[in-house]
Parts: sequence; structure tokens; C-alpha cells
Amino acid sequence: MEMVLENNSYKIDALVGQPLALRYLRNYSKYQDKIPPLLIFHGPSGVGKMFAAELFSKSVLCMNGNACGLCQSCKMFQKKVHPDFILFPDSERIAIGDIKNPDVFTIRWLQSQRVIYRPDVSTKRFVVFPDATKINSEAETAMLKTLEETNEHTKFIFVVEDIHSLKSTIRSRAVEIPFFHLSRSNMQIISDKIGIYIPDFNSGSFDLGYLTLDAWNLFQDKVENSIFDSIQLLRLEIWIKAYKTNHTEWKEDFDYKKFLDIISSLMIYSYFKNQEKDYSLCIDAIFEFKNILHKDINAMENFSVSKLFNKLCTLVH
Ligand SMILES: [Zn+2]
Repeated sequence: MEMVLENNSYKIDALVGQPLALRYLRNYSKYQDKIPPLLIFHGPSGVGKMFAAELFSKSVLCMNGNACGLCQSCKMFQKKVHPDFILFPDSERIAIGDIKNPDVFTIRWLQSQRVIYRPDVSTKRFVVFPDATKINSEAETAMLKTLEETNEHTKFIFVVEDIHSLKSTIRSRAVEIPFFHLSRSNMQIISDKIGIYIPDFNSGSFDLGYLTLDAWNLFQDKVENSIFDSIQLLRLEIWIKAYKTNHTEWKEDFDYKKFLDIISSLMIYSYFKNQEKDYSLCIDAIFEFKNILHKDINAMENFSVSKLFNKLCTLVH
């Protein structure tokens, strides 16, 4: 039996600037029986992959099939308590888990405590991995088994930047949906809708776009005039480290790393804009810092900050 929804107003249309992905997802929203066991959303960060994964799941789980916002499923989804929407953490490695007593958010937990049962509220269940590269190798093998044996009601969405970071055995079982950098006009449409600010140096993605204009102005102000002599640099370093202590209320998608990422991008931009002197060595040092920042070494951020500022002080003197 084929399920066709005769509702033309799909909320999935809220996905801006990704025409190809939208085409796939509209189609799957309409013909839900055709949704494959595994979808892979791949492409640059900050262009809407997670937004699409959540909106698509919400649409399919919705009792009216269009993310109506009013049914029991939509209400649970909005409160982030939907039992048929399983969102794995993106911050830590995903392990296979203990056979007898697997921890939550391990593959064995997923298999033995979730996937074997029918969905609770909706007719389907979605399992989303916001960073599928975090699934470790042993867990990946177990995951393959789940994908092979997967039942009609459980659908997986893997989100990754680089499609090649996934094993070909995984990819061969999936439908891959590409996401692309956004045009300036589409970024404007999105930022108007959600009220965030797009900085000048941010082209084609919202990777850094979690901030209000006020926060941007503050950050820009702090950075712009503080990076050209060593005394100011030291003040900036102290301000950065204090910012962490003074702001413990980091949001889920905005933590100290993200903050450092933004500040260092602003620094690169300000050095780059300065026409009086060549600051390319400073820019190189900051790129190096950014690389280390993304290597997932926890609690080493402040050490790296100190190292960076020491280096910058000797470069600008
Ligand atoms: Zn609904």
C-alpha cells in the first residue's frame, strides 16, 4: 500500500537555499513509504543540514504529515520529548556499548532498547546522528547490521560534512542528499526570519551565525583595536579567558570553542583588512590555532589561547 498525502502545503518548504535537498525531502514527505532506511545529509557546516533533518523528521512523524504544529506528535517534538525522535549527541564518540547493560546513546542501547520496538506515538521513528563521523569503527560495524535488518518503521539520518569520511559499506546502503553553500540573498532571507546577524566575512554558511547584532558589535569592538600591539593583545587575552568564566550559560550550540572560533575569525578578518602592514604571519598563527581547536582536545583551549597570544605578541611588537 502506498501512502500519498494530499496536502500541498509542506512545512519542509521552509528549507531555504537547498533546492536539491528540498526536492528529495518533499518527495519523501509525500510518499512516506519510499523513505529509505538511511539518508545521508552531507555538505558544508552551517547551511541547514540539521535544520532539514529536524524539520523532515517532524513532518513525517506528524499525525497530519506536514509538521502541523498542533497534533500530539508535533507538540512533543517541539518540547523535545518525542519518544520516536532519537537525536544522538554530536559532542562525543559513539560507542558500540556493553552487551548486557549498554549505556544510552550507544549502538547496542539503540538496538536492544529502541529499534526492536514499534514507535510509541507516530507510525515511524527517526534516529539522527548530527555528526556521523563520531560513530567509532566497532560501532559502525554493529550499525551496519542494524541497517541491514532495519524494520519498516525506523529511519536513520546521518549528517556529515565530508561524505568520504563514511565507509563505503555505509554509503552503499544510503540515499545521499547533498547540501551546498548558500547564496548571499538566501542567507539574508534566513537571517531575517530567525533574527541573527551575518558578519561580512561569513560567506555561504551560518557556521558562525549564532549571535545577535549586539554580541557581534561587542566582539568586533574588542578585537578590532586590540590586535596591533602587544599590550592590547594581552588585554584581549585576559578578556577572552574571563569571558568563559563570566558566561557559564553557554547554549547547546554555542560553547567556548565556538566563541574562540568566532573571535579568531574576527582577528583574521581584522588583520586582513589592515592595509598598513603585512600581517600574514599573524594570520597563519591564528589558522594554526583554529586547527588545534578543532582537534577535539578537551580542556586545552586556554593553553592554546596562551600559546597563540605569546606568538602574536612577538609578531606585532
Ligand atoms: Zn503535526
